[in-house]
Amino acid sequence: MKKHNFSAGPCILPQSVFEQASQAVLNFNNSGLSILEISHRSKDFVAVMDEAQKLAIELLGLEGKGYKALFLQGGASTQFLMAAYNLLEKKAAYLNTGTWSSKAIKEAKLFGEVEEVASSKDKNFNYIPKNYSVPADADYFHCTSNNTIFGTQIKDFPTTGGIPMVCDMSSDIFSRKLDFSKFSIIYAGAQKNMGPAGTTLVVVKEDILGKISREIPSMLDYQTHIGKDSMFNTPPVFAVYTSMLTLRWLKEKGGVEGIQKLNEEKAALIYNEIDRNPLFEGFAAVEDRSMMNATFNLKDEKYKDLFEDLAKAAHINGINGHRSVGGYRASMYNALPLKSVQTLVNVMKELETQA
Ligand code: PMP
Repeated sequence: MKKHNFSAGPCILPQSVFEQASQAVLNFNNSGLSILEISHRSKDFVAVMDEAQKLAIELLGLEGKGYKALFLQGGASTQFLMAAYNLLEKKAAYLNTGTWSSKAIKEAKLFGEVEEVASSKDKNFNYIPKNYSVPADADYFHCTSNNTIFGTQIKDFPTTGGIPMVCDMSSDIFSRKLDFSKFSIIYAGAQKNMGPAGTTLVVVKEDILGKISREIPSMLDYQTHIGKDSMFNTPPVFAVYTSMLTLRWLKEKGGVEGIQKLNEEKAALIYNEIDRNPLFEGFAAVEDRSMMNATFNLKDEKYKDLFEDLAKAAHINGINGHRSVGGYRASMYNALPLKSVQTLVNVMKELETQA
């Protein structure tokens, strides 16, 4: 039986994608060959890369706006340093909203001065700082749109006065409509809303590159990958193929706008229960709550075993919170059906009845 999978990532993908991807491992496009054994330079795979890139740009509404989509390796963690390597000449501005922002800041410091414009560390990152300003002399501004661990999400992005905005969207890419043309670089590890671990989507506005004086090693230079259509070296073929299938699925669902409606419904369902049920409390500040990762705690730990037993009996997987927050985290990525959230809410209600 398929479980209700609230894993934070890697996480649930559409069942139809699992089926198509499995089939392609056995016999890709009826070619008598597996997707895993063909050349990445073959016509069939080049078509996959091409479609994946086109779908990413189309779903973000960035067609004809000077952007290129790349499918790279090394995870979002490599983008922490690659963004700085390619853009940081003197000084960069960073918003610190949690573990992943902090890691991005650490890497950027290897390349120049980093000004932390604001941080929510004072309250264990349970909110998004507001009313900060981006210094006019920064080479770029970096933020994390959704904080997977703490369950907070930026709703209003700052106006940067022409300073390029770089955003780590690993855990909410393709989940809600935004004006994506506000961003100069968007990056996201595939393993939440897009596909299996092993590739990272990087969407780059081409005109921000080539402005720094340092030399960049080929593999870490965005221009290398742009120049070779994301095929400078062997791409992670299976991760790219599966991502392409998920992007096709998303397009069929009405794209980002279509899925946003479902994501809003799922988030409303869980947060209403967190607020209604006297046994639970939410972790993140209400106005900054993430639509993707709902973080919450039991007010009284004595119900821990009962709650977890009930969840297990309901075939719920992956709701344990990250160790730096504790409690619970329900990750509700694009492919998670509404009925899974309803099942979790029923378990929370059942706990109240039994407590
Ligand atoms: N940024 C965010 C917001 C994340 O959630 C994660 C991983 N969970 C990362 C970066 C790191 O991604 P990766 O493991 O692909 O390096």
